[in-house]
Amino acid sequence: STATTHSIGPRSAAAFERAVQLMPGGVNSPARAFGAVGGTPLFIDRAEGPYLHDIDGRRYIDYIGSWGPMILGHAHPEVIEAIIKAAERGTSYGAPTEAESHLADQIIAAVPSIEKVRLVNSGTEATMSAIRVARGATGRDKIVKFAGNYHGHVDSLLVSAGSAAATLGAPDSPGVTEGASKDTIVARYNDADGIAEIFANHPGEIAAVILEPVVGNMGCVAGSPDFLQTLREETTKDGAILIFDEVMTGFRLALGGAQERFGVTPDMTTLGKIVGGGLPMGAYGGKAEIMNQVLPAGKVFQAGTLSGNPVAVAAGSKTLQILRDDPPYEQLDRMGMRLAKGIDMAATDAGIDHQVQAVGSMMTLFFNPDPVDHWGDADRCDREAFGRYFWGLIGEGVYMPCSQFEALFFSRTHTEDIIDETIEAARKVLSQMA
Ligand code: PMP
Repeated sequence: STATTHSIGPRSAAAFERAVQLMPGGVNSPARAFGAVGGTPLFIDRAEGPYLHDIDGRRYIDYIGSWGPMILGHAHPEVIEAIIKAAERGTSYGAPTEAESHLADQIIAAVPSIEKVRLVNSGTEATMSAIRVARGATGRDKIVKFAGNYHGHVDSLLVSAGSAAATLGAPDSPGVTEGASKDTIVARYNDADGIAEIFANHPGEIAAVILEPVVGNMGCVAGSPDFLQTLREETTKDGAILIFDEVMTGFRLALGGAQERFGVTPDMTTLGKIVGGGLPMGAYGGKAEIMNQVLPAGKVFQAGTLSGNPVAVAAGSKTLQILRDDPPYEQLDRMGMRLAKGIDMAATDAGIDHQVQAVGSMMTLFFNPDPVDHWGDADRCDREAFGRYFWGLIGEGVYMPCSQFEALFFSRTHTEDIIDETIEAARKVLSQMA
């Protein structure tokens, strides 16, 4: 049973007892607390390549990758060197640097929709700012988001939210006022007819539609080509702004993100995770005419003391340079297909009802007999089975996301041998679960 097989070491257990006295739930972000799988978290000592090492001296193959950023693997030597070199020149100036323009150039060159960009400090800041700019640029109030999509803890977007909000039973958070969320329309993901209906009911009222073009935050769910195309058409027709939240998918599903991979170009894009190379950073950008609304070019206020921080810029810039000069995407797709097929066969052989859904290096094993296209489908998954799978894999030295409603991520350092080792571990765990 799950309750008795939690195999965290004594040092992690002690560290959690201390942490929980000092921080809410013992953590600085809820997703990492292991609450959904019934247990307490591993405490990490260090990481390199595809591996995490906990403070009990145990090694795990890592399928979180810091929830997305670590596409080059942990502690990539060139990225670490860039960080050290930047830090030696001072860690923050509050004044412009040439390095910021270089990174902006790299982002604009890579992401089809971005003509101008602002650097911020997190994905949450990126989506919060993009929504404000979209409202400012259109003079409209309403926004459309999709149930089970997560865009950070922005008040107006913390409605029917995915990720930890869904996992821990708080998709609509206390503390978000009616005022903050009354202009948020929640729609069903992958429902093209539903979107057409919303625009028919609110002509000229919607400032923006924001979505994850491939969702990571209700588990891995791809937006269908028809759905993405309908969103592009309906927003264009109505004069609303289409925002792709590519905080997870940006620089991961292709250098230019999901928009490059699927050939649908939004008006604005939000970025995070990989763009900071493992340091705190986000970015938002889009058409020049929209981004020119931002102060001091325009009137929409958005600012940040540490925005464009030189150490974070160095890490992000080096990461994007490596991704451009030596693209890992073909390898990631190949390894993703291998992992998906291996886990699918293992679950089938164990006789477990399941779906493996994957795009590139994002993937989820859903404990669900039916395909997951939207939150209503995801919500029907067997969470208890997922918990047993998660803890079984921890026992085998494989660290998966601690929720059914998160996609796994892997890096270019996850070799074929490591993928096969993971499949073998999953096979063992799933056959014991059956
Ligand atoms: N958007 C998406 C799609 C995300 O996955 C996340 C974080 N997982 C965010 C926004 C928020 O980013 P951050 O945690 O950096 O604030």
